[in-house]
Amino acid sequence: MSSSSIELGSRPDGDASLKPLEFAVTLNDKARDPKDREAILANPGFGVYFTDHMVDICWSEWGGWHRPRVQPYGPIALDPAASVLHYSQEIFEGLKVYRHADGSLWAFRPDMNAKRLNRSARRLALPELPEEYFLQALRELIKVDGGWVPSAPETSLYVRPFMFAKEAFLGVRPAKKVGFYVIASPAGAYFSKGVAPVSIWLSTDYSRAGRGGTGAAKTGGNYAASLLPQSEAYEHGCSQVLFLDAETGTHVDELGGMNIFFVHKDNKLVTPRLSGTILDGITRNSIMTLARDRGLEVVERDVTIEEWRDGVASGQITEVFACGTAAVITPIAELKGANGLQIGSADAPAGELTMALRDELTGIQYGRVPDRHDWLIKLED
Ligand SMILES: *Cc1c(COP(=O)(O)O)cnc(C)c1O
Repeated sequence: MSSSSIELGSRPDGDASLKPLEFAVTLNDKARDPKDREAILANPGFGVYFTDHMVDICWSEWGGWHRPRVQPYGPIALDPAASVLHYSQEIFEGLKVYRHADGSLWAFRPDMNAKRLNRSARRLALPELPEEYFLQALRELIKVDGGWVPSAPETSLYVRPFMFAKEAFLGVRPAKKVGFYVIASPAGAYFSKGVAPVSIWLSTDYSRAGRGGTGAAKTGGNYAASLLPQSEAYEHGCSQVLFLDAETGTHVDELGGMNIFFVHKDNKLVTPRLSGTILDGITRNSIMTLARDRGLEVVERDVTIEEWRDGVASGQITEVFACGTAAVITPIAELKGANGLQIGSADAPAGELTMALRDELTGIQYGRVPDRHDWLIKLED
């Protein structure tokens, strides 16, 4: 079953004359039968199982975006000289599709992911993908794999778009052949036994990103650099690592894959400003909006470890939480670090505002709370 694919030579300039892509669809004849799929959806974990199909769009310097396909999920054949394998020219996105009570399927702010993908693309010298194509790719995948969106509370389908350099060339320059893909993986409730505050570890030996680097881009290299400090966190009984700014080593940047917020007692919400070394999280952005709606003052500025320590001690800082698409909002109980650093305590309960914001945001995502900012985009009835 396939429709003809057309070669598109269009440039990624977001112009109105952009024609929709015509995806060639090849259905997976080894797709899991509904019974097996339901068994997986009953206990999907995170990032372990993948749906039956994937999206694959090619780009070349001479042909632009072309050969859009929906095809069976499976290995990607790469030349061993493909530049991504040597120079990490790669970017990705992460977003979720939610099933509402009436069965309909919705994506949360996918337009923001499309825009961010292009900001990452610019930094990594990859081609920009017209936003319309990004959204179309999402729709095409859900059209064939919508049955993979689970329905139990707090579950979703995690969608992972990514782009990388696949030209076989060992010289160092931006690749002239690139692939854009979308895969999807059903995700269980992040906190299966109720929201549990976490302990985090302050990395002082390692940085995630530096001035002029790639910290603001969603690129695999940032994660590669965070893995060693992340294992250090595990060794100290912490589930996440927190990074300081590389330049002065004094203020808080973000966690390995989540942004951070501080609740102050005087109705204020403080989060590190987008300095160029932290990732502009869509959850972060949404939380700032919801907090302002509640009448809180939201401040983006530098936050030092001393301010955190003294603020918790004096009662000025009442709650701390991390946020990102995967866990939405995770309360932070304590920060630990070298030389006996200890802020907060392991048994600190989740904060009141932390949980209220979490309930509101997940409420919007699952259709329980009115979507007054029009954040949801319907993918299927
Ligand atoms: C993706 C990511 C986040 C969170 O972004 P969301 O859009 O909220 O999911 C935060 N920090 C890093 C380093 C990330 O890669």
